[in-house]
Amino acid sequence: MIGNNFDTLIKIVRAGGTIDRQWSTENKTKVAYRFEKYRTVINASNVVGIVEGTDKKDEYVFVTAHYDHLGMRNGLIYYGADDDGSGTVAVIQMAEAFQKAANEGNRPRRTIVFMTVSGEEKGLWGSEYYSDHPFYSLDKTTVNLNIDMIGRVDTERTSADTLNYVYVIGHDKISSDLPVINEGANNKYTKLVFDYKFDDPNDQNRIFFRSDHYNFAKKGVPILFFYDGML
Ligand SMILES: [Zn+2]
Repeated sequence: MIGNNFDTLIKIVRAGGTIDRQWSTENKTKVAYRFEKYRTVINASNVVGIVEGTDKKDEYVFVTAHYDHLGMRNGLIYYGADDDGSGTVAVIQMAEAFQKAANEGNRPRRTIVFMTVSGEEKGLWGSEYYSDHPFYSLDKTTVNLNIDMIGRVDTERTSADTLNYVYVIGHDKISSDLPVINEGANNKYTKLVFDYKFDDPNDQNRIFFRSDHYNFAKKGVPILFFYDGML
């Protein structure tokens, strides 16, 4: 395609020069393509644990995080401790706490579904699969609380009084009740600083679209996404 000018062009590029239109030529030639398409089927799982509710047990609160990361690239293992081992551990800890409470006679009113999903890094696959094949009606799924990357502190936060924070995303996009419930519970118990700087779907980082809650939001399920930022 570059033709006889190839060596000259390489010299220009190596010398730090630029290649502009004067080098473009038009040639007509026949080209043959040969390609083969491969398809590899790999099985992955979403892992689900349930704590059954009481008077509203036919409504479902989903708590999610993704347990996959990037795997191995060029001999390097990408462990994903923050993304999203941190969220996965949070889901497991909450499942344990809610089960302990249930054992002691303190069940939640709604059924809580703790779901860790796979394939997030490939394009939110696990949550997409679930939202296309839900085993509880999505109409009865009152909220998805998704957690992704809560294992470190945003580099913009440097002093002690700014560290006790979490970014909250999507809080008022589908339900107007949810912001009130979320703020209320936080003011009463957790007392974190809620930072809404990534909340706007039009934010250039597009965080609203970038983790598993999005597949619930797409189907009309209210979502809250909790996140501590990227380096
Ligand atoms: Zn992630």
